[in-house]
Amino acid sequence: MVINPFPADRPRFLVSQRGTKILAISGYKFCVHYKNKMKTRWICSTHNSKGCKAMLFTFGNEILKIKNVHTHPPDAMQYKTHYSA
Ligand SMILES: [Zn+2]
Repeated sequence: MVINPFPADRPRFLVSQRGTKILAISGYKFCVHYKNKMKTRWICSTHNSKGCKAMLFTFGNEILKIKNVHTHPPDAMQYKTHYSA
């Protein structure tokens, strides 16, 4: 049995040091791919470096659709800096 160390799960909307919006969920981070009036499409932050195809859509703070399947483990170290229990 695998225990997910991360709470399951509400998205956290963060802003990186560069001022880029980030959505963190389950230890993974997503960057805005595009945005229109209806929804925002987010892609995994490793999309370019690792070719990960995980993505999700949000409307406001709600997740409309999520494909949270990654080709890599969660970025636990980074996540902890944003989520101190
Ligand atoms: Zn990924």
